[in-house]
Amino acid sequence: MALIEVERTCPIRVAVIGATGSVGSSVLDICRQFSAFFKVTVLAAKSNADGLEALAKEFRPEAVVLIDARAAAKLRGRLAGKTKFFSGPSALEQMLAENLADHVVFASSGTDAIRALVLALDASLDVSLANKESLVVAGEWVMPRVRFPHQLRPLDSEHSAIWQCMLGETSSSVDKIWLTASGGPFRDFSLRAMKIVKPEDALNHPVWSMGAKVTIDSATLMNKGIEVIEAMRLFDLEASRVEAVIHRNSLVHGLVAFKDGTVKALLSKPDMRLPVAAALAYPKRLDLENAYSLPSPEHWAVSFEAPDMERFPCYRLAREAALAGGGYPAILVGADEVAVEAFLNKIIPFTSIAAVVEATLSSFNETAPRHLDDALDLLDRARRRARDLTPRFSNERGYFSC
Ligand code: MG
Repeated sequence: MALIEVERTCPIRVAVIGATGSVGSSVLDICRQFSAFFKVTVLAAKSNADGLEALAKEFRPEAVVLIDARAAAKLRGRLAGKTKFFSGPSALEQMLAENLADHVVFASSGTDAIRALVLALDASLDVSLANKESLVVAGEWVMPRVRFPHQLRPLDSEHSAIWQCMLGETSSSVDKIWLTASGGPFRDFSLRAMKIVKPEDALNHPVWSMGAKVTIDSATLMNKGIEVIEAMRLFDLEASRVEAVIHRNSLVHGLVAFKDGTVKALLSKPDMRLPVAAALAYPKRLDLENAYSLPSPEHWAVSFEAPDMERFPCYRLAREAALAGGGYPAILVGADEVAVEAFLNKIIPFTSIAAVVEATLSSFNETAPRHLDDALDLLDRARRRARDLTPRFSNERGYFSC
């Protein structure tokens, strides 16, 4: 294994936030394969004490962060003597103040790490970001903190594709970008058939293995809608220049059309380790060897379809929130969290996820949040409103009574 044309000082000290999740495990796998180049110095998780302990034993980081106080009490004392240990709501910020990392990977979901993300950018650390919510809810306050080109590198596979197609280009020369979507497990279902799907059906994604929330969001296409807003923030593009397209082959991850008519596309295996490798090694490439290579081009099948907004109203709602701007993307994210949880708990049917989100969005007459605290407060209010509205869309027809 080799880091092609190595010039930088090695190893790079890497902090992995969300270490026990699915993106975190891809990050750690690359660090494991290229341990001469990447030293994991910090492992952070929300509440998975056992998972974090196992990783700490393997990677022997300088610090471990476990946000949840009860889980932290279980883990404290079980770590090697010299390992620093942080817990509680501001643990990530405390860890960042200790100068333990050169590169911070935000692989956690949700909005808990937004303040740490801003701190890492302010400290001029390299940052890789898989967390969509931080940009959708707080992009207005996060993006201005980026201090130098490519300090912030996307890990979401579609955004990594666009980022890599944009290397050497400028946003002003982009006509349009397309994020690809596999279409999820219900891409060929009728609306009627979608009404009776169960959480276990929706959790069975055809291509990617991910956490429950993002898997359900993929099944409703809300994930793609949220990713459209994420891409608008990352690449400084208005809503009309960012689209999603269904691509069943999961071979092309993103396309960029430039104003001169040229289109660049990024093709790769659908494996999170590829965007992780691109972000960690930038501006170099890691030699990932044949396991990650595509077959030769005559075996590639490439076709695209427009998303069906009628069968997938969550995608339409996300586009409408993107166009409305202001606080609507934050309301969308808060409402969707609650609706997905209600579906997973079998309180509402699958098709009511969109109904809860739409009702929540239309119950707000919101002006734009003025600062980060305002945006986070709006997100909380959207969650509470969605919780109040959820019973109206409950599973009154007994879809899950069997
Ligand atoms: Mg994605």
